Amino acid sequence: MKKVFTHDRKQSFDVGKIVCVGRNYMDHIKELGHQAEEKPVLFLKPTSAMIYSGEKIIYPSFSSNLHHEIELVLLVGKTITNATLEEANDAIIGYGIGLDMTLRDLQNQAKDKGNPWTISKCFDTSAVISDFILKEDYELNFEETISLKVNGEIRQKETLNKMMFKPDELVSYISSRMTLEEGDLIFTGTPSGVSGLNKGDKLEGEITNVAKIETEIS
Ligand code: MG
Repeated sequence: MKKVFTHDRKQSFDVGKIVCVGRNYMDHIKELGHQAEEKPVLFLKPTSAMIYSGEKIIYPSFSSNLHHEIELVLLVGKTITNATLEEANDAIIGYGIGLDMTLRDLQNQAKDKGNPWTISKCFDTSAVISDFILKEDYELNFEETISLKVNGEIRQKETLNKMMFKPDELVSYISSRMTLEEGDLIFTGTPSGVSGLNKGDKLEGEITNVAKIETEIS
C-alpha cells in the first residue's frame, strides 16, 4: 500500500485511487488544440505509478515524447458520494504538488484512434507526489503560484485562480461519478507550458506556501 505524508511526517494516509483531471486551464487547452469542456475530463492512475519527491522518473523505452505536467494535488479525507460543494470542500483535507508525467506521443495516438489514454498516463514513476499540507494548517486563497523549472528555467507558471473548475467543484463532480474515499488523491490539471524532457533533466516544482517537489529524468 502506497502512503502519502504530511509535511511534518507526523501523519500518513494510505493512498486509494488517483483521479486526474484534464483540461482545467484555458491556456493549456489551447496549447494542445482542444476546446473547453462542460464537465471535467477524468482519468485514473494506479498507485503503482507513484513515486515521491526526490526519487527519479524512469523514461520509458516505449516512448520518445515524455512531457511534464505540474499540478495541484488534493488529499481526500472522508468517504463521499454525490457531495454538495460544501461537502466536497469539507472532504478535502490537504494540498500537495504533483507531476502527472505523460507520454504525449502515445496519448496523441490514443486520441486519434478514440482509445483510452491509459498507457500514456499509467507507466511506473508517472505520478510524482510531494508531502501534503493539511487544510487545518493552511487554506488556499488561489492567489498562490504554481510553477515548474526544468534545469533551472521556468517552463510552467500560473496562479491557481486560473483553474476553470475549482477544487470543491472537481471533488463534487468526481463524487457524482465515483465514490471518493479517505486517501484518494486528485490531480487537478496543468497550466500551459508542457514540453518534452530528456534523460538527465532536473525538475523543480512549487506551489507558494503549499509544497515543493523535485525529481530527475533517468
Ligand atoms: Mg495532467
